[in-house]
This record gives sequence, structure tokens and C-alpha cells, in this order.
Amino acid sequence: MKHKLPLIPGDGIGPEVTEATVEVVEAAGIEVEWEKMDAGTPAYAKHLTYLPDELVESIRRNRVAIKGPVSTPIGEGFPSINVTLRKTLNLFANFRPIKNLPGVKSRYANVDIIVVRENTEDLYSGLEHMVVPGVVESLKIITAEASTRIARFAFDYARRNSRKKVSAIHKANIMKLSDGLFLACVRQVAELYPEIQYEELIVDNTCMQMVLKPEQFDVMLLENLYGDIVSDLGAGLVGGLGLVPGANLGDDCALFEPVHGSAPKIAGTNSANPTAMLLSAVLMFQHLGEIERANRISFAVESVYIKGQVLTPDVGGTASTTQFTEAVMAHLVN
Ligand code: NAD
Repeated sequence: MKHKLPLIPGDGIGPEVTEATVEVVEAAGIEVEWEKMDAGTPAYAKHLTYLPDELVESIRRNRVAIKGPVSTPIGEGFPSINVTLRKTLNLFANFRPIKNLPGVKSRYANVDIIVVRENTEDLYSGLEHMVVPGVVESLKIITAEASTRIARFAFDYARRNSRKKVSAIHKANIMKLSDGLFLACVRQVAELYPEIQYEELIVDNTCMQMVLKPEQFDVMLLENLYGDIVSDLGAGLVGGLGLVPGANLGDDCALFEPVHGSAPKIAGTNSANPTAMLLSAVLMFQHLGEIERANRISFAVESVYIKGQVLTPDVGGTASTTQFTEAVMAHLVN
């Protein structure tokens, strides 16, 4: 079966890791008609808009898409394309599996965490205003509806995948109303899953616990901002952002993308690690039912790490993106 899939390379290292991914997917024998689309600055240069309507329509029509990172200007300029896409398409669950890859050197072994991050509200509502010069207000929106929905997603995932524990991460000691509401919703959902252990941890303690003893975590359930920060911390535990894939999931559409951003400092140097994008493609093809070929890609990636001869600089090697990609293709077993 030939898949028709929107492909958004993004900017910075996005086009490099996307090209690597397309090559590996084709070499694995997965037939895809890619619908290549621009977002962010590359889109503005061509269409005078950062998020073309055709892009959103294409994802709605095809229901599944893959995307590289898109830069967001800091402090000024256009709003985040990533946040806008997640909200527009109601991709309410950000799913990020953080796991040691065999062969990758890390200070920790046995890290196997699923980060489930609420993707549509919190401080990412973009509601900021100046009260008077020198004083600004940024609104943190937490609703019972979104909190319950993401809690159900996390517990359902835990049940379907025989995960043992869900940890809800919060700061309800300080944000008593907003994080308090989040926790109240999660507790109600937790009662419906008696076989799954449930715990609550304050976010600052969580960060310390992750660094001391990450193997204690199983499924982590977080609001948007804590989820963003904790995912990068988690990536650091297993070897870096070059390795961690992700998915944004809703009731109608799914958008797969690595956790990392556009890494502007290494863009154009052919040194980015395409693993996170490759493993995002693996998640996407598993979602599409291409289990055998998707697994073949992840085995090939793992084999390259186990051999340890062709690695990109972020994981201690000297190979280029192209050399790593060729090594992965050489390990695809038909
Ligand atoms: P980043 O993830 O781009 O980079 C953080 C660090 O990780 C850098 O040292 C970078 O070199 C390294 N890194 C990231 N991916 C790598 C890879 N594949 N291979 C090797 N090294 C890698 O985070 P940042 O610097 O905070 O953000 C840069 C830009 O990316 C910003 O404009 C930000 O808004 C954007 N961003 C986009 C997304 C997204 O599109 N989903 C996510 C995060 C950040």
C-alpha cells in the first residue's frame, strides 16, 4: 500500500534530518507519496504566511504527517508554528518515549519513560499583555476538560501497554487553583484504573529525582510547560536531543516530530543526528500499521549504535549526517 503523507522539513537542521529520513524510509521498502510543505520562515519566503492554509488542510485530509523542527523567534516576531499547529488541529497529547538506545553511552541505564504532555493550553495559551509599562501578565489557562482528556490518554496508554505507574507532575503547592484543578481531574481518572499505581510529585523535586534515579519513572503526566522542560531533561538522561522522537496526537490527526528544535548552530554542517527524526518516522509507520518495516528501521538504527563505529558528534562520534544515514541503510535487513 502506498501512503500519502505531508512532509514538513522545517528549517535549521530540519531539511537535513528530513532528507535522511526519507532515504531510509524508501530503502526500507515503505512506499510513500510525500506531499512536501513549508512552514515558518521558508513558508513566508514563498507564500507570505508562516503557516499556509494548504499545510493545515493537507494534514486534516491525510490525518497523519511528519514534521522537522521549525524555529520560533525569541521575544518578538511571529507566534510559534508548532504551538499553532497543535492547537489548530487539536493535537492534545504530546507523546515522547525516552529510552536508552542500546550502544549509546549514557550515565544512566534502564531509562524507559513515557512523557505525556498536555499540548493545547497552560502558559502556551499566548495570552500576554502589558498591564502598565514594566509590568506584564501572562495567563496560564487550565481547564477540567483538557486535564481530564490528557489524564485519560495517559492511563489508557498505560493500560494498553502494561505500564505499571503514572506520575502526575505539578506545582499545586503554589498554583493552588490551576495545578490544583489539573490534579483533581487526574485523581478522578486514576480511580478508574485501579491496577495502575498512581503518584503525584512536585515538579522541582521531579527534576532532582530524574537526575538521581530516573528508572523510578514509568509514565509521566504533565501540563504543557512542565512537559516541555521535563522532556528535554529526559533526553539529556539518554544521550541528548538527537535521539528522542515524539508524536502529537488528537482524535482526528497525528503529527510526528522529534523533540528537538532547529539547532541553528549546527544547521547546514551535515553533522545533525537524524535518529530522533528517524524514530519519529518509526512511530508514525507503527501508527499506520507498517509494523514490520517500521521495526526494521529501528533495528537498523540500533545496530549502528551497537557497532558504535559511525556516530554523529552529539553522541561522541565524528561521522556526518550522511555517513550515519548510509550506515543505517546498510543495516536494513530485507
Ligand atoms: P534545539 O533542540 O534546537 O537545540 C538544543 C541543543 O541540542 C543544541 O546544542 C543543539 O545543537 C542540540 N541538538 C538538537 N537536535 C540535535 C540533533 N538532531 N543532532 C545533534 N544535536 C542536536 O533547542 P533550542 O536551541 O532551544 O531551539 C532552537 C530553535 O528551535 C528555536 O527557534 C526553538 O523555538 C525551536 N524549537 C522548535 C521545536 C519544534 O519545531 N518542535 C522544538 C524545540 C525548539
